[in-house]
Amino acid sequence: MRLKNKTALITGGNSGIGLATAKAFIAEGARVAITGRNQATLDAALAALGANAIALQADATDIAATEQAVASAVKAFGGLDILFANAGIPGSTPLGGSKLEVFEQILRTNITGVFFTVQAAAPYLNDGASIILNGSVMSQLGSPGSSAYAASKAGVRGMSRVLAAELAPRGIRVNVVSPGATRTPIWNGAAPTPEAMTQLEKRLAGIIPLGRLGEAEEIAKTVLFLASDDASNVSGAELFVDGGSNGSPVGGPVFRG
Ligand code: NDP
Repeated sequence: MRLKNKTALITGGNSGIGLATAKAFIAEGARVAITGRNQATLDAALAALGANAIALQADATDIAATEQAVASAVKAFGGLDILFANAGIPGSTPLGGSKLEVFEQILRTNITGVFFTVQAAAPYLNDGASIILNGSVMSQLGSPGSSAYAASKAGVRGMSRVLAAELAPRGIRVNVVSPGATRTPIWNGAAPTPEAMTQLEKRLAGIIPLGRLGEAEEIAKTVLFLASDDASNVSGAELFVDGGSNGSPVGGPVFRG
């Protein structure tokens, strides 16, 4: 049990990577509070996670709601050892066709929401706690139409270095997990039907050196590592879980002769 007697807060814990991570944490002995906006998926997640979980409805862009969720988790658990600031949204912001509201909503959720989640939780984090922020390989790829999303994830990476420095005096570690394309509901908008998803996966897999999408459980295992004492001397780092997309960008099947 790598997280025995540990407590965790996971934003966006009712879906995809956040939910897989909540399952992994609980399997290792933690008690976990998950947040999200959607009450139906929160209820379903809670049913799947069992007695060592609590579910709290909170919009990460609403600072008061975030502070309330943190207070509820602390009331239930007595303190926090792990914070996974995972909630995030995708969005298309092509040059020449983007609206301010869309651009700002991506930044507000993916950067501002992350900062204020950490700020709300910081007073209640036990010394030696671990914070993990969810970044993305998209900060590195220059993928057309992704300015706001790529900037938001690059911002998360930059912010993580600052937070790691500010919290180091308390022995709190701050790291980023940066997934590559991973099979979760985040792709539902871009590929609304199973056929469209198959096509999209084919295209994406072609530029991933390992030739496939990642699974949420693979990200969860890396977050578990960063959350646990196995990573006791790891802070200020970014770990890519992307099938080689960032480290070996022309290694994908489409580049092979
Ligand atoms: P999902 O869409 O499955 O999960 C996103 C989660 O974020 C949901 O639980 C959603 O809950 C929550 N969320 C979104 N906006 C808010 C908000 N304003 N307040 C509270 N919760 C919110 O996608 P993933 O699991 O894939 O995404 C998780 C993270 O991983 C994101 O930060 C994403 O950018 C990142 N990522 C994902 C990749 C992928 O290919 N899947 C690749 C790289 C990074 P609700 O809707 O109930 O609010």
